[in-house]
Amino acid sequence: MKEIAVLGSTGSIGTQTMDVIRLHSDLFHASVIAAHKSIDKLREQAAEFHPHAIVITDEEAGKKFLEIYDGDADVLIGEAALSEVVKRDDVDLVLVAVVGITGLLPTLEAIRAGKELALANKETLVAGGALVLEEAKKHHTLIRPVDSEHSAIFQSMIGQDQKGIHKILLTASGGPFRGRTREELAQVTVADAMKHPTWNMGMKVTLDSATMFNKGLEVIEAHWLFGVDYQDIEVIVQPQSLIHSMVEYVDGSVKAHLGVADMRIPIQFALSYPHRWESPATQVDFTQMTSLEFLDPDLDAFRCLTLALEAGRAGGTLPCVMNAANEVAVAAFLADACRLTDIDATVEQVMEQVGSEPVESLEQLEEIDARSRALASDILTRG
Ligand code: NDP
Ligand code: MG
Repeated sequence: MKEIAVLGSTGSIGTQTMDVIRLHSDLFHASVIAAHKSIDKLREQAAEFHPHAIVITDEEAGKKFLEIYDGDADVLIGEAALSEVVKRDDVDLVLVAVVGITGLLPTLEAIRAGKELALANKETLVAGGALVLEEAKKHHTLIRPVDSEHSAIFQSMIGQDQKGIHKILLTASGGPFRGRTREELAQVTVADAMKHPTWNMGMKVTLDSATMFNKGLEVIEAHWLFGVDYQDIEVIVQPQSLIHSMVEYVDGSVKAHLGVADMRIPIQFALSYPHRWESPATQVDFTQMTSLEFLDPDLDAFRCLTLALEAGRAGGTLPCVMNAANEVAVAAFLADACRLTDIDATVEQVMEQVGSEPVESLEQLEEIDARSRALASDILTRG
């Protein structure tokens, strides 16, 4: 039985992970579940999955949870608890599916504690890739990607050596605003942005997909996960989301990963690796496919993607700055406090003003993250 700590168990990735654990309950047990404030959902999950520990990171919600919970799991409250539970003896594998930079510290602690690691949270690698990779190398930890594109690349690279890779072709659906002009993007609403054409995900990643910032984050994520230079990672819009990414080898062969758009496939592979088991997802019916299109991304309209590529190439602490500014601007857009195009304008200004330095420590990243957030808020309130 593999004991799993599911950080972010109430979210989109978290609940789909619980689906996989339910289907394979003879092989997996969720020894830890953790969320921010969804206490009713946590209580439901606790009743069904019988974890040994439950984390609620929001203090108020944690107090309320203690009033309603009558089970016998350990209950831990506060963000620091995420980094504590990952070290428990009854945890073999940590699945990090919290949203935002909150994932960074628990990821580092899971690696240091010698746990297996499945990573959904892309902000962790974007902001702290240098630190995470350094620790992973030191502790011989394989980072199992959950993000569908990275799982696709990971799967396409099984049995291949690094030297044979010519480039990574990272596919993007293009999001709900594919084909829109910059002027049109300035007018869209939150409801419009939540209508992703092919994937059903949490609000932050859905919005990042609408601005294509998500694809920028994923280029940086791919750089760290697979050790490939930025010039060898190409973004291609594949509107049907049937191809989840491809790897081109030096001999001209291209390996692609295809399948239905169901996150339970990459989640399960991150847990079952190197094995494959039956999954709850449906199979592709190729006879129903009418077309398979490939387009270049529109870097003029989707400035977020351009900025993320610039930050990735510049390296150092700039991706951390960019990520922090984006997290703040996304929250503002979701609260109807700015336009969609104010997101990239804010990120750009924060990147320019904070600049970049070599990555040295977690404390340094935390300080830069906080400074970038404060500056982004300031820019957004000044309007
Ligand atoms: P959701 O918003 O659906 O869920 C986020 C989870 O994290 C919830 O359990 C939430 O708890 C918890 N959480 C939120 N804030 C905090 C916090 N400050 N401290 C601790 N826990 C917190 O997100 P997704 O599942 O969509 O995404 C999770 C991560 O996976 C993101 O980094 C995303 O980019 C990545 N990802 C997601 C994909 C998807 O299909 N959804 C695809 C690829 C990557 P609560 O419910 O209490 O708020
Ligand atoms: Mg993805």
